[in-house]
Formats: sequence, structure tokens, C-alpha cells
Amino acid sequence: MLMIIFTLIFPYISTQTCLATPGNIRFTHKTSKLKAGTSFLFQAASSHSGDRIHWSVSNPSLATINKSGKLTAKKVGTVNVTASCGNRKSTTKVTITPKKIIGIDAGHQKKGNSSLEPIGPGASKKKAKVSSGTQGVATRVNEYELNLAIAKKLKSELENRGYAVIMTRTKHNVNISNSQRSKLLNDAGCDIAIRLHADGSTNSKRTGASALYTSTSNPYVKKSVSKKSKTLAKNVLGAYCKKTKIKNNGIVVRDDLTGNNFSKIPTIVLEMGFMSNAKEDRNMQKSSTQKNMVHGIANGIDQYFK
Ligand SMILES: [Zn+2]
Repeated sequence: MLMIIFTLIFPYISTQTCLATPGNIRFTHKTSKLKAGTSFLFQAASSHSGDRIHWSVSNPSLATINKSGKLTAKKVGTVNVTASCGNRKSTTKVTITPKKIIGIDAGHQKKGNSSLEPIGPGASKKKAKVSSGTQGVATRVNEYELNLAIAKKLKSELENRGYAVIMTRTKHNVNISNSQRSKLLNDAGCDIAIRLHADGSTNSKRTGASALYTSTSNPYVKKSVSKKSKTLAKNVLGAYCKKTKIKNNGIVVRDDLTGNNFSKIPTIVLEMGFMSNAKEDRNMQKSSTQKNMVHGIANGIDQYFK
């Protein structure tokens, strides 16, 4: 019995005690890069045998580390991982890279721009650079305001989930055409693009959300990209309607949308609901609804990348 207690306690005591003797701690297994959402087991050795290594991380909101040295990356950024025992320690820097890069385009802007641009690369057909969008029939909130409010909240939610986010605009008073918005997201290396919009109709009874994507016969977009856009449309719209209880009006093929046609990455327009319906308009201004809207979209993005 005594022997059992001794063997149980002795290693515990011996590894807990970090004597202030000269020596060092060195990493035997480490990485300088880790993708958000993944883990890596750090290992370190002490020149003083029997030392138990204590693990810590400089910014626990970005990554956590357990007693065994397993680092789990959560958000994009840089952290320092420290292995220590008493006054002996060693630190190494780890850059947390994004799971994926998400482009968000908050549709419209303070003032529409009616000058024309081609609807796709090389297209002879032209459309206004940016239309002015709709307005809440009950709240009088402009569509460009709702779109940006959701875009900002979505950015924060996606970053919390380990994605990097590129926004086409972060304020209302800009002048960026739809083709420029797509080029901006293409050039930034985004993996997908979500274009946020809300609907308006002369029929005030119409409600619900839809997702617009390009067809496989679209002359401006690669077939493989359009196929992925369709999957993205299904995932995001499905998760959005499930979370918000907003009616699902389905995914819709559209080959006349400049922003989709100039995109080289899977892209959808999410029509979040009808601002021309008083009840839906008011609903989309509630902070509790907006939270669900954002979580729903993020859930759909998670599903798409699974
Ligand atoms: Zn719109």
C-alpha cells in the first residue's frame, strides 16, 4: 500500500518542482504557422530531467493551450507559446492563418451611380454601375444601411469562427461599381463572396429570402464556379431561413447580375427579405433577428466548407 502511494505521489512531486538551477528549456516539436480551427501538439524538453513543462499562450482569445501543450487555434492573429518551468522558459511565435477568406459585399451605397458598365467581362450589354436599392416601407431604413449593418456583424461572427473577411465597403458614402466590387474580392484572394441585399416589391404582401447564383451556361463565369455557387446558395439560404424563420423562396438562377458575372470565385446574392413588407421590414431591424440572420449565414458558410 505504502509503495502504491509512493509511486503515485513521487513522480507528481518531482515533476512539479522546478528548481532554480541553471539550465534551459527547448522546443522539440513546434510550428510557426497554424490554421484556425486546427490543433498542434507542442513538445519541449528541459535540461533538468524530471521537470514538468508548464504551457501558456499570450492571447487566449486567439488560441488556447492545454496542460499537455496542445495548441488549438481559434482566430486569425499572432500568439506566443511559452513552455516554462520555474524561471526557465522558452517562447515561440505562432501565426494563426484563416480557415478561408470570405468576401462580403454590402449591396448598394449612399447614392446610386447610373452611369453604365458591361454586365460581364467583354459583354456588350450594359447596366447601371450601382443601383440605388430599396427602402423599408415601415422603418424608412435604406437597403444600403441594412446591408452594411448585417455585413459588419457578419464580419465579426466569421472572424470569431476563424475566417478572414474582406469587405467591399465599410461606410455608405462610397462610389464602387458592381464590377469593381467583384474585382476587389477576386484580387484579395477570397475563396467565396456573399453579396448582401434585400428585396422590394410593388406587392406589399411578398415576404421571404432567396439566393441568386449564375447558371452553368453563363458566358462570363466558369462552369465549375457556377456549380459551386449553386451549392453555396443552397447552404447559405437554407441555414439562413432555418435560423431566422424567414420564408425560403428558394435559389434562383440569374445571369444578368454584374457582380456575380465578374466574379471568379463562388458567389451569391442573398436577398435577405422584403423591405416592402412592413412586418418583414420591422423584423429585419430587430437586433435579435439580425443576430439570427448573421448566425444563419455563417452556419451556411461553415456547411459549404465542410
Ligand atoms: Zn439590392
